[in-house]
Amino acid sequence: MKTQTALLSVSDKTGIVEFAQALAQRGVRLLSTGGTAKLLAQAGLAVTEVAEHTGSPEILDGRVKTLHPRIHGGLLARRDSKEHLATLDEHGIDRIDLLVVNLYPFRETVAKQGCTFADAVENIDIGGPAMLRAAAKNHGSAEGGVTCVIDPADYVRVLEGIDSPAGEPSYALRLELAIKVYAHTAAYDGAIASYLSSLASAEPSQEAAPERTAWPHTLTVQVRQHQVLRYGENPHQSAAFYVDQPLGAGLLGSYRQLQGKELSYNNIADADAAWECARSFDTCACVIVKHANPCGVAVDATPVLAYQQAYKTDPTSAFGGIIAFNRPVDAATAKAITEQQFVEVLLAPGYSADALAIFAAKKNVRVLEIPQGDAHNAFDIKRVGGGWLVQNPDDHQVSSEDFKVVTEKAPTEQQMRDLAFAWKVAKYVKSNAIVFVAGGMTLGVGAGQMSRIDSARIASIKAENAGLSLAGSAVASDAFFPFRDGLDVVAEAGATCVIQPGGSIRDDEVIAAANERGIAMVFTGARHFRH
Ligand code: 5GP
Repeated sequence: MKTQTALLSVSDKTGIVEFAQALAQRGVRLLSTGGTAKLLAQAGLAVTEVAEHTGSPEILDGRVKTLHPRIHGGLLARRDSKEHLATLDEHGIDRIDLLVVNLYPFRETVAKQGCTFADAVENIDIGGPAMLRAAAKNHGSAEGGVTCVIDPADYVRVLEGIDSPAGEPSYALRLELAIKVYAHTAAYDGAIASYLSSLASAEPSQEAAPERTAWPHTLTVQVRQHQVLRYGENPHQSAAFYVDQPLGAGLLGSYRQLQGKELSYNNIADADAAWECARSFDTCACVIVKHANPCGVAVDATPVLAYQQAYKTDPTSAFGGIIAFNRPVDAATAKAITEQQFVEVLLAPGYSADALAIFAAKKNVRVLEIPQGDAHNAFDIKRVGGGWLVQNPDDHQVSSEDFKVVTEKAPTEQQMRDLAFAWKVAKYVKSNAIVFVAGGMTLGVGAGQMSRIDSARIASIKAENAGLSLAGSAVASDAFFPFRDGLDVVAEAGATCVIQPGGSIRDDEVIAAANERGIAMVFTGARHFRH
């Protein structure tokens, strides 16, 4: 059915005047609510106010504007039903073929500092979601139906539909926009529920506990399906990748794939581990990840130098690895990687044209560009049987100024730099994590063991396998040494300085062991378990 009448009622008025002009040029009659109608009239457009159309004025400070049978009848009458269309005629109701609505900015309002309860409540849109749900329900069939638009980015496609021989957007587009509406109104209501429940749970606590987020009783996240994956962690599992809405720049989900095979479930998980570690460094860094653990990390003056150092840590594991850089990749780096190893995925904030030309010769290599940005996830979510564990991300930062020297010997400046580097890497290694480093590169990484002492042994075996000496190295432990035996192992391997959180009931025993061996040790006061 030809698009004859449109109702426009928007809070975000981006592009609305231009869109309304384009509709008017196509002979579409415009209905609109107070603020939107005023704007369109100022632009010289012929527009009928909803209040005039319904014969009912906007009342209760705008709480009731469009809640009227002449609006909802016009949106809900089935286009393929003679009875419905006859009912419209009987009651003198015009069809509304196109609905353009975006809602009161509830989420933005409650995110503002100092938002009052009254502000929040007044920003709960009522008529907007009601109309959107009606229009989306009636998106119809191939015979025709109502088009509902919430996103200015869709205006152009809607105009193209009106220009088509059918005179209205295609069924496929109407369906797509209806799905978008229901996802949007669901998330909108979810945000209201989260806000109200966070008020209910924000009762002051008497306990002297660490500062806690006031977690809402219900949690709503808005995600969009980005890609259905070939399979999950194993071939017998199905999987898909969903990304946050809105998506923050700088996070893995905002990647652009420049070349290579389709990303797999494990690629995405490992790429995230590599990227998060790489972006945590201020200086030029390279991180090589295998099975979610870094198997080589280095900082150096250029990406190629950082890569060469990171690769030396564990060339065996680096085979088929995921490599992330926090600086743009140049030709020298691309050449060094492609000549030296098989790589699954590369991540960087950018690539030179020469670097891309080198990768182009290796068609399968997945090359991802992540736009620069400092967005962080609001929370981490982990699935457990029958529920979800939700926490703030581990964004705890300590700098060398916060390190507390607990031994007779204090670390030298170089050792302090190494300890800070080792500590940063240990945060991205699965627990129990032991990381030996020297001169801004990892020498041995012990990951994911049930006993800390085994992680320490594994890290030193790996260094030995790679032909790296641990004599004079620095070592980080992601959590405290519960006994002196762990410290004895790292010291015997060659470490001369240690960084760890401290906090064990046997700290004295461990400090005495360090003093006995002439080792410098610092406590960070915070641990970095990673499961
Ligand atoms: P305007 O700026 O045009 O006066 O208002 C536009 C906003 O009003 C849109 O965000 C739309 O969703 C909302 N809206 C439309 N009808 C109603 C209604 O009946 N009640 C309420 N509370 N909001 C409405």
